[in-house]
Amino acid sequence: MLMDTSRRKFMEYAAITASVVALPSSLWGSTARSKFDLPKENSADFWLELSRKAYHKNAEIISTMANQKPVLAVIKNNAYGLGDVEVAKILDTSVHIEGFALVKADRALALRKAGIKKNILLMGDFDESLGQDLVENDIVLSIFSAHALQKIKSLCNNSKKQISTALYIDTGLGRMGIPFNQAFELATAASGSLGLNIKYTFSTLTTPKDFAKEQIRIFNELIQELSREGVNVGKTHLAPSFSLIDLPSSHQDMVRPGILIHGSYPLANMDASKKWPLMPTYRLKSRVMRLEKLSAGDTIGFSRFYKVIKDEWIATLPIGWGDGYDSGAENGAKVLLNGALYPVINVNANHTNISLGANTMVKVGDIATLIGPEKPEITPEGFGKLVKRHNYLQINYKESIPKLIFDVF
Ligand SMILES: *Cc1c(COP(=O)(O)O)cnc(C)c1O
Repeated sequence: MLMDTSRRKFMEYAAITASVVALPSSLWGSTARSKFDLPKENSADFWLELSRKAYHKNAEIISTMANQKPVLAVIKNNAYGLGDVEVAKILDTSVHIEGFALVKADRALALRKAGIKKNILLMGDFDESLGQDLVENDIVLSIFSAHALQKIKSLCNNSKKQISTALYIDTGLGRMGIPFNQAFELATAASGSLGLNIKYTFSTLTTPKDFAKEQIRIFNELIQELSREGVNVGKTHLAPSFSLIDLPSSHQDMVRPGILIHGSYPLANMDASKKWPLMPTYRLKSRVMRLEKLSAGDTIGFSRFYKVIKDEWIATLPIGWGDGYDSGAENGAKVLLNGALYPVINVNANHTNISLGANTMVKVGDIATLIGPEKPEITPEGFGKLVKRHNYLQINYKESIPKLIFDVF
């Protein structure tokens, strides 16, 4: 028997408003507004859309780039602004993902509380008040100094569980990890500590190739010495995105990229980006909230930054640099609106202005894509090129920006 219309409507509505929203792929490349654009109750002025397919595809490509090694995904800084819990939930089912690495203890716990099953490596410090919670939630704790080892050992006294740890070695980055000349001694001390096991041994490579090679050499030497001593160092990893691409000898047991996961390369125009095209994983969208025709001689902004030379329509989007949109956008970025690209002319704390020219069909309420995969000018990397900035700009997106998860785009 067919469902009656109202019941079917209700079920469609319920599907759309489920907290993790699997929206149809028919929107891909389309700028037409449809009832599927947003769940009904989402009244956000601007929001992020994440693509499950793009994240899964990127994880697969990255593992292929690293000769099929597993990927420990770095999702520090709220997954570079895109939502650590959201991204981890998407990638928790990927066979290419070993686990997740981040820097803040409360975020490691938040991932576990959100149901993340894979390994979680805390690369930073933790407050003692969170110690037991971290142990109970199987968070891998980093030994990055003698003090850190003491702190972790004191947790063993209260724990029936083995505590998983990672030896974080400084081979020349110079800001985090056990200084190389103390590494052997601390590693053997950790290895001899009851109630504690070493799951990973890792370090971070710098970008200059000759120096990175030297880092790899001394790291490998340390691993060999420790193995000879009978220390089980666990799995090893060294490579952030740049080294993963630049130096195959950095791959070790697994690789540890951040930016590549989101479909951007660490630098613009890297050769590898042609060989291994990653998929931009997200869109940043906002609704037009004001539309006015300004006249020659008018100006925009506190500093009267933009001067209107010929009469033109100006759209205002309710997102600004206070929300994490890069203020450099006013120096050449474009947004996609009803199928066409328009220049960004001013970004302030809460608003962004777009120039639409002398005539326009755009209406208040129309949805602009500030970042997305649809055009080369608005991909994260394309945006970075236009504003002459690096590829990590989304890192400032505010945590409070709503996120919608799509299966495909
Ligand atoms: C941030 C970070 C990474 C990832 O860097 P990307 O350049 O984004 O790949 C890897 N390892 C450590 C220790 C980091 O802090």
